[in-house]
Amino acid sequence: MNTISLTAAQIRQLVGIAKDALPNESCAFLLGHNDKVAKILPMRNIDESPVTFSIEPAELLHAYNLAESKGMQVIAIFHSHPAKPWPSSTDIKFMEINPVVWIIYSTTESQLKAFVYDDDELIKEIDIIITGVRA
Ligand SMILES: [Zn+2]
Repeated sequence: MNTISLTAAQIRQLVGIAKDALPNESCAFLLGHNDKVAKILPMRNIDESPVTFSIEPAELLHAYNLAESKGMQVIAIFHSHPAKPWPSSTDIKFMEINPVVWIIYSTTESQLKAFVYDDDELIKEIDIIITGVRA
């Protein structure tokens, strides 16, 4: 995938999730089709940490089951950094295991970035497309 499409309202929702979790990292799953996000599922960061996040296995399972029941897929994983919006070495390890789009919001830089794992470059930044009202 080379792009990820979100509405302005979805971006505001992600920024809100990130700010509400401060001083810790937040996380959410983005469900949809292809590169279009249809639903944002906020997840609980059980690490309650400003440098890492983990999701309870039962909550993960619930997210995948919900996606399947709605005929959608988990197309992206969102988390926030109270730091620069670049994947950490831990993030890169999990990106390799979960090859979806990874979206990171930096609460210090107020920047949203999207990445995919890439065999050659390790990580590759992709474009975030802001769409209008969903058809
Ligand atoms: Zn991270």
